Amino acid sequence: MVSPLRQIIFLVIGFYLLLTPCSAQDTQYVRVAILQDASFLRLKINGFYEVLDALTRKVLYRGKNLNTTVTVYAGGILLGNIKSKTDKLFIKSDDPLAININGRLFRGNIQFIKMSNLGLSVINHIELEDYIKGILYHESSHYWPIEALKAQAIACRTFALYQMQENKTRDFDLTSDIYSQVYGGRTSERYRTNRAVDETKGYVVTYQGKIFSTYYHATCSGHTEDASLLWNINIMPLKGVACSFCKDSPHFSWHYVLSLDEIKDKLANAGYKISNIKNILISGKDKSGRITNLKIILNKNDLEISAKDFRNIISPNIIRSTNFNVQVVNHDAVFEGFGWGHGVGLCQWGAYFMAKLGRNYQDILKYYYPGAQISLD
Ligand SMILES: [Zn+2]
Repeated sequence: MVSPLRQIIFLVIGFYLLLTPCSAQDTQYVRVAILQDASFLRLKINGFYEVLDALTRKVLYRGKNLNTTVTVYAGGILLGNIKSKTDKLFIKSDDPLAININGRLFRGNIQFIKMSNLGLSVINHIELEDYIKGILYHESSHYWPIEALKAQAIACRTFALYQMQENKTRDFDLTSDIYSQVYGGRTSERYRTNRAVDETKGYVVTYQGKIFSTYYHATCSGHTEDASLLWNINIMPLKGVACSFCKDSPHFSWHYVLSLDEIKDKLANAGYKISNIKNILISGKDKSGRITNLKIILNKNDLEISAKDFRNIISPNIIRSTNFNVQVVNHDAVFEGFGWGHGVGLCQWGAYFMAKLGRNYQDILKYYYPGAQISLD
């Protein structure tokens, strides 16, 4: 006969087993490329860890406390001098805050991928809500009004979920540079940004019942951009709105002087056939006032280039937006511009000032994504 105590233990274990698959299903993991094309990495783990072949999911070895290097060899990947015959290694740690790569702490697990060019890619597999905490500090300052932080958390969550949906067959969903979302890992978390993520847990922005790519940028300086002019996206929430909220943003205007030789070199490095630059003319603007095309007057054969390509080639941190005037003075190009970022979707400094005026996160998201709804994922 089974003792009452045993019955209780079985009951408890039974309940646990019943509940576990549900909560595991609810947890979503995002795969973030934190480094690409590296040749050498430092890996530190405090606590117990497992090294698995990511292709077969077989545990290769286990250990405690690791301080080593990661490189590749012809047959696979090397941790220190331990060879693993696989192109994809997965490192798990029992401590969620234990993995340190090149001096930065990451939550979750890490995958190393040996690429065909013998470079190493590092992918952080992390719970979605933890990922949002890691990026929020970079995307908005932690002293910002809580309603602006909440709006940003929901926009970041929706953007990440959309990328996860789109990139299912690739090795990763997002990169950690400015072209997707800036992700700094555990080192970047702060109390108030974490609170904004916790208090909006699971909330997303939808349009006609579906999530979409909820773009955002630092400052629009008057009007957000129509996404269809930059990418192949044509939906109402991303068609652009007037914005007077960001007029006191520190990024409302910008100024930069570049020598014509620097511009010439950057265009040549990007593969353009180019001779000496004589002048730079604006040859097209869209309805938001941003430049669509530039005409670069050369010694021979002028060059037509899209403003979006020009900005990326020079550097998106120098040419902060495509809303600028340019004048050639002697051997320099003098840029006077407005706003920071591509201008699509939520204007972050606009959200900051809306929150200062007492608007809540729903007001902010509905303003910058007109026609959209906020719902639980
Ligand atoms: Zn704005």
